[in-house]
Parts: sequence; structure tokens; C-alpha cells
Amino acid sequence: MLFIKINLRPNRSLQRFGLLIPSKTAFMIAIAPYYLETQKESEVFQHAFKNKLPLLIKGPTGTGKSRFVAYMAHELDKALITISCHEETSSTDLIGRFIIKGAETVWQDGPLTTAVKEGALLYLDEVAEARPDIIVAIHSLTDHRRELFIDKLGLTIKAHEDFMLVASFNPGYQKGFKELKPSTRQRFLAISFEYPDAKKEIEILMNESGINKDDAKKLVAIGQKIRNLTELGLAETVSTRLLVDAAKLIESGLPKRLSVNVAVVQPLSDDADTIQALNDLAGLMI
Ligand code: ADP
Repeated sequence: MLFIKINLRPNRSLQRFGLLIPSKTAFMIAIAPYYLETQKESEVFQHAFKNKLPLLIKGPTGTGKSRFVAYMAHELDKALITISCHEETSSTDLIGRFIIKGAETVWQDGPLTTAVKEGALLYLDEVAEARPDIIVAIHSLTDHRRELFIDKLGLTIKAHEDFMLVASFNPGYQKGFKELKPSTRQRFLAISFEYPDAKKEIEILMNESGINKDDAKKLVAIGQKIRNLTELGLAETVSTRLLVDAAKLIESGLPKRLSVNVAVVQPLSDDADTIQALNDLAGLMI
């Protein structure tokens, strides 16, 4: 599968040699990713693309946002570049930088510039985590101008007509700390992702892991039960991703309770009493 996920974790030695961003080409997703539609999200995406409007996908972690974007890139037959944003992701990482090559200094496009030039889908995963200068950099790309200003080159480039900006944002995460400003949010169409209903989540688990329907049902029931346990005060609750992981472990032969413990319970809490309570509850259900 030709698909790059560029994770811009700061790596000083790589940064120094300009090797951090393999941005020469955007990549195509050769094999159709499995994605089960939960609302009319692909229609919304298609129309956003057609109308050259940027799209913000809101929702908790593990609800299928990234999978959906990969699926849409394949559906639209467009290249996809994903950037996992974090507090050190800067506009230079996205736009590009001068690097030393032999005796020369050469310009190297960053992934945003590549996507703008080549007409790829650019997915900024967890955009609220990035530094504010990123928001400034994408400003003129999110309105009718659809252009990118590269200050280090003193150049403005018009976006390829197939360029599309997609960003994800987890509104519940670090509440009040890393919110997106209303003025930024209003530059995007926005769609909300929630956990799928039980029927769909069972189908996803079966498809992703090959697990039988009976066990998939039990895992989904555990997930739903824990999601309703607000009194435990968990920072994040059971995502579809965690349930898929548990299903994969069960399918590969790990005992069911142990699978739920390591894939669902332990990732949710470090508190011994909470872990015990969740294991007791899950143990009764599987
Ligand atoms: P997010 O980007 O929201 O954190 P992901 O897209 O990485 O979440 O989804 C996590 C996992 O959950 C996927 O790898 C996939 O196994 C599963 N998943 C969640 N929702 C769906 C869906 N609607 N269709 C198919 N798989 C899904």
C-alpha cells in the first residue's frame, strides 16, 4: 500500500540534514481501505472536494477519522499526505526549508507545498496540537484565494485545482487548553464523528479482525457499558480502535479476558481500583 504518514516528531539530527520530510512526491493509496459509513460523510466529503472547501473532522480518538480520509483519498483517486500534528510542528516543517546538498543550498518543499503543487489531499491530524504559525500558514489556502505564501522564497503559489485541506480535531481532548479559535473553525466545513451504533460497530469489529459475531457483540456491549460509566471520570473512553484491538487479540488466540484487559482496560486507566472495577465488569460480560 503506497501511503505515507509523515509523523513530524522532532528529530534534530534528521532535521539538520533536511531528511525529515520525504516530500518530493505525494503517494496514492493503492488498496481500498475498509471503511463503514456511519452518516452521510462520504457525500459531504465529495461535495467539499468538488466545491474546493476545506473540511474539519471533529470527534474523539479512534472513531475512524483517519480511516475515513484514507478511504476518501482512494475513492477520489487522489494522493494523500498525512501530518500528525504536535506542539513542535511548525510552518517550516509543512512549507519547506533550505537544505545543504554537497556544496549547494537547495530548497526542499515541505508536505503542504507538495500537496498544494501536486493536487493531493493534505490531512492535518489533530490540527489543534500544532503551533499557531501553522494556522497562519494555511489561512490563505482555506478561503477563495487558495494560495500558499512561501515567505522564505518570497513566492505565492496557487493551489492545484485538486488540492484539498482536511483537518481533524478532538474537542474533548485537553479541554479548554488546546481549542481551535472560532475564526479558524469558521474557515472549514465541519462534520462530527461519534462512536458507531452497536450494529455498525459489530460489523466493523468482524471486518477488521475476522472475529465471530457472538464475540463481536460481547465486545461492543462492553464498550457501550464503559462509555456510559461517567462516574469513573476516565479522561478518554473506549474507542472503536480499542475494541478492534481486543477483537484481533481474541481472533489470534489470546484468552478473551486477557485480551480485553490489555487492549481495553489497561489503556484507559492507571488507577488500580478503576482497573479492577473495569476488569470485573468486562469479565462478567465475556
Ligand atoms: P481516529 O483517526 O478517529 O483516531 P482511526 O481512523 O485511526 O481513528 O480508527 C481507528 C480504528 O478503528 C481503525 O483502524 C479501524 O480499525 C476502526 N474503525 C473505526 N471506525 C471505523 C469505520 N467507520 N469503518 C472501518 N473501521 C473503523
